[in-house]
Amino acid sequence: MRRFDTILVADWSAGKRRPARPSKDAIWLGVARGGVADDPVYCRSRHDAEALIAGLIKAEKDAGRRLLAAFDFPFGYPQGVTRRIVSSDDPLDLWAWLADRITDAPDGSNNRYAIAEEMNRMFDGPGPFWGKLNRQDWPDVPYRKAGITYDQVAEHRACDRAARAASSCFQLAFPPTVGGQVLMGLPVLHRLRCAGGVAVWPFEPWQDAPVVLAEIWPGLIEQAVKSQLSELGPQAIRDCEQVRLLALALSRLPEDELHGWMSDLPDIARQEAWILGAGHNARLVALARKEKEAHKPLANDCFALPPGIDWTPVDVALEDLRSRLGPVVGLAQTPLTEALGRIVARDVTARRAHPPLPNTAVDGYGFAGGRGPGAHRLPLIAAQAAAGARLEEAVQDGDAVRILTGAALPDGVDTVVLQEDVEIEDGAVCFTGPIKAGANTRAAGEDKNANDIVAARGRRITPADLALMSAVGVATLETFAPLKVGILSTGDELVEAGQSAAPGQIFDANRPMLMGLITGLGHSAVDLGRVGDDRDALRARLEDAAAQVDVIFTSGGASAGDADHVSGLLNEAGGMALWRIAIKPGRPLALGMWNGTPVFGLPGNPVAAMVCTLVFGAPALAQMAGASWSAPQGFELPAAFEKRKKSGRREFLRARMRAGRVEIFASEGSGRISGLSWAEGLVELPDAALHVRPGDRVRYIPWSGFGLLT
Ligand code: AMP
Ligand code: MG
Repeated sequence: MRRFDTILVADWSAGKRRPARPSKDAIWLGVARGGVADDPVYCRSRHDAEALIAGLIKAEKDAGRRLLAAFDFPFGYPQGVTRRIVSSDDPLDLWAWLADRITDAPDGSNNRYAIAEEMNRMFDGPGPFWGKLNRQDWPDVPYRKAGITYDQVAEHRACDRAARAASSCFQLAFPPTVGGQVLMGLPVLHRLRCAGGVAVWPFEPWQDAPVVLAEIWPGLIEQAVKSQLSELGPQAIRDCEQVRLLALALSRLPEDELHGWMSDLPDIARQEAWILGAGHNARLVALARKEKEAHKPLANDCFALPPGIDWTPVDVALEDLRSRLGPVVGLAQTPLTEALGRIVARDVTARRAHPPLPNTAVDGYGFAGGRGPGAHRLPLIAAQAAAGARLEEAVQDGDAVRILTGAALPDGVDTVVLQEDVEIEDGAVCFTGPIKAGANTRAAGEDKNANDIVAARGRRITPADLALMSAVGVATLETFAPLKVGILSTGDELVEAGQSAAPGQIFDANRPMLMGLITGLGHSAVDLGRVGDDRDALRARLEDAAAQVDVIFTSGGASAGDADHVSGLLNEAGGMALWRIAIKPGRPLALGMWNGTPVFGLPGNPVAAMVCTLVFGAPALAQMAGASWSAPQGFELPAAFEKRKKSGRREFLRARMRAGRVEIFASEGSGRISGLSWAEGLVELPDAALHVRPGDRVRYIPWSGFGLLT
């Protein structure tokens, strides 16, 4: 197979002509060649886009360059649809059928609902197409999906399931309007393929075709798009970045790898089409991000547990997290004024020495060399050295000069005598020795030399760091974009504080707490709300969330019971591991990946949720945010309590320090939220059996020792 010289990625739209100013939900075309992307092209309408693409196809063919043109809408329908409509199994017959019927005016108005109606009439019962602009028109297109059974044809194609795409090509209205895009896209593709030299993958022999049309899905590189958008800020347009990064990733893919992806397909792809790269998200994300060097994406099995271990010791669990997790956020050039709390992505070095020149630490009189014991009298020159402007005049040996704090030492001065220790008489400075050479001065670079590292990769910027970086002339630095952590509560029993609650219901305590913990750990907390114990609702929420945030924290439903849908769903997605960690308080942690986004399924119990967040969540998040791994900082204090524990698990007690001793909360009851609020930190008792008596030293970790800033 010949390699593709040019990659085109098109983000399609079913809507009306768009404004002249580039905007979202329009058609965007991304082009990349040899691993370099052009600026994406904004198209106001399908007419404009079709003309541009036809032009590109012709230009590439004329120049002898091979083109892969990828479009972000399904090239086929679930098995059986084509046969029902055109009495054949060749999806290209359906393309032609649609091209005959779909009308599309230059302003974008079109007849897609009427054509969907015509197709719906070929099936029994309501559907399969649904969704429209109003409830009155097109009676044979249901307004909502409810009531459609999908027993004649499946709702999703095999490749949608493989790629974990939630959308369906039968949905015509309400985002994602994939169904509308298919109806308005396939006729365009039909015309493009009639140009000659164009093959449609995987329906036709594509191996030697100069131009290949293929289906793609930007959801595959969602991780890369997300970090790019957070780096670019709110003015960036998602569709534009999607096509740019996808084109880039595809153009960087080695030829044999791409060939493999295009060749290894299930038979059903000949009827339903296939998403190019489905299942290869991590690889595409890595290629899209390559220029940034920041990180490799997390592997889908990064939470896998060593086989055969029943209860994982805390230290083993921490070491696993440390070695498997890495930064998942993009990089941003950040002005110093916005750098507080950010994590350094590239070592920051001093632009110049601090101090830049030797200078005086005090107000006084400068001269050369030390003086022995006894009285000294040095004539003063008629000048003064002050901070800000260097005195150019040299001071002769034996003379002295008035000098003020911070002033650079003039030539001929290396020692300063304090003004409080002198008398001025007849234009001379008089004092009593001894005074050492160099007294009361600061050497150039004694704090930092030029090119010294002043803030290392992985460091979270403090106010003092801002002072140091400013002092050495650093105005901008490369940081990691803030880590977005979504917080979701699960459980049928939960209601929001302030709402009316039936006696059997409880108020959601975890979400406010976790939002606070995440903010306190220096990350950006995103409220994902609450869902009941309902697998479909949870799946939909995770789907949305994975596109919005870098990490998801859920609470509740993480064990292995029937109502434990977090672990159930993560299991379904693959790569889930139920970590039974030997820790009290704690329940199993469900760790897994959802569409490339790591999910931490915390226990529902608020005490366990908080302890697990501090012990495991805090270092894991730090790692994913680009910060260096940080073990909790605690110290040993005499106990003000007595306590016995068995061996085999680590215990954390709600604690605080009073009068130099550490006291613990009266009850270890894991439902006592008041104890969390009473506490100012935790006592950590080792895995082994132990009998703590009052006065014995125990390890106390204040909240700040876990990295909590508030
Ligand atoms: P689960 O892990 O879902 O079995 O929940 C364990 C316990 O924690 C149950 O008593 C839940 O009612 C409680 N719980 C779960 N989520 C929350 C929450 N968001 N706020 C307060 N309690 C919760
Ligand atoms: Mg629950």
